[in-house]
Amino acid sequence: MGFNKNNNYKPFTSKVWLSSPTMHNGAEMKYVQEAYDTNWMSTVGDNINEVEKIAAKKAGVKYAVALSCGTAALHLCVKFAGEKLYGKPEIGHGAVEGKKVFCSDMTFAATLNPVVYEGGIPVFIDTERDSWNMDPVALEKAFELYPDVKLVISAELYGFSGDIKRIKEICEEHGALLIEDAAEAMGATWDGKQCGSYGDYAAVSYNGNKIITGSAGGCLLTNDLEVANKARKWSTQARENAAWYQHEEVGYNYRMSNVIAGVIRGQYDYLEEHIAQKKAVFERYKEGLKDLPIQMNPFDEKRCVPNYWLSALIIDKDAMCKQVRSDNEALYISEKGKSCPTEILEAISSINAEGRPIWKPMHMQPMYRMNEFITVNGSARAKTNAYIAGELEDVGEDIFNRGLCLPSDNKMTAEQQDVIIEVIKRCFGK
Ligand SMILES: *Cc1c(COP(=O)(O)O)cnc(C)c1O
Repeated sequence: MGFNKNNNYKPFTSKVWLSSPTMHNGAEMKYVQEAYDTNWMSTVGDNINEVEKIAAKKAGVKYAVALSCGTAALHLCVKFAGEKLYGKPEIGHGAVEGKKVFCSDMTFAATLNPVVYEGGIPVFIDTERDSWNMDPVALEKAFELYPDVKLVISAELYGFSGDIKRIKEICEEHGALLIEDAAEAMGATWDGKQCGSYGDYAAVSYNGNKIITGSAGGCLLTNDLEVANKARKWSTQARENAAWYQHEEVGYNYRMSNVIAGVIRGQYDYLEEHIAQKKAVFERYKEGLKDLPIQMNPFDEKRCVPNYWLSALIIDKDAMCKQVRSDNEALYISEKGKSCPTEILEAISSINAEGRPIWKPMHMQPMYRMNEFITVNGSARAKTNAYIAGELEDVGEDIFNRGLCLPSDNKMTAEQQDVIIEVIKRCFGK
């Protein structure tokens, strides 16, 4: 089956990426060079200390702990929360072993992998249609069904926050701790407060495709000195204060490298510039695609200031052509005036640009097919027949079926973006 709605555009000679690293004429190299020249090629050094200061200040929290990646930060958050809630586990057991943890459903698996590392059982909370983030109403439903749950992990999708303040309130009403996965949302705000400052513990990421990058890296953010101290200790192999290697608990090699910290230190000066560029990309799509039966990432314009990390769109229900996806393939039937994510992704890829499907919801992943999934109508697993009959709203699945991420690179030119917009229009026969 061929994609044939727009073969008159030549592929870009250099690929337009979804979101790629952007370095700034030596601004980052200066700090890397310093580390090199002074032999601080280690997991100790000025760059690490500076990144921690800058990250905490930017997020408006007291402490940041620089780690090897955002996933490591989330892992230490889960471990700390688990020990605080349930006590220190026996050797060989996880900190949330056998415990249910409420998790965002439409997100990258890294949000909740650490729950599984620590033996926990993710319970997925459906997505809010107006924000694509964890639905506070579904979260309240989840607490009604499982009042003993004491830990929630919520991620901000693509740099557009939902009502994370309400999520935190609900957690407090139920005596639960909140881990905020702000990996995609650095620099975004809700009610004027930075993403990463709402959770009891939070993580940001400097992965290569994030809004700023060190090639890798992450920070744990918190106002709690005890977590910050624990995370520093655990991330450097959990050595006790003794002349020899003395150990009272298990450790990890999770500390950030001072070389990578140099890159991140230099990048922070450009965070606002990157956000402005990403916003311009979003606005251009919004304007260019305004006559199509689609909507861009939804957000509450009064309360959320996004960082616009990834521009995404969702196709109106009645403008969807038929599309079927198996575990690893997708097929669609091309139809005049209609389109689907698979067709648009093919069109984008045919001109050497990179789009991506929306994060496939966790409750649809083979690995989690037995895990509980809570929608605004209650437990989808408990109401299997109604669920299969499509009587339960499954917002995440619907957004996954109709949505896609657009090439959102901050180095894409307006001309390149115009071509991408034209190619998308042609999918709808415009
Ligand atoms: C990127 C990402 C992470 C993981 O960050 P790393 O630094 O790559 O480990 C976690 N959660 C979400 C939502 C992400 O997008």
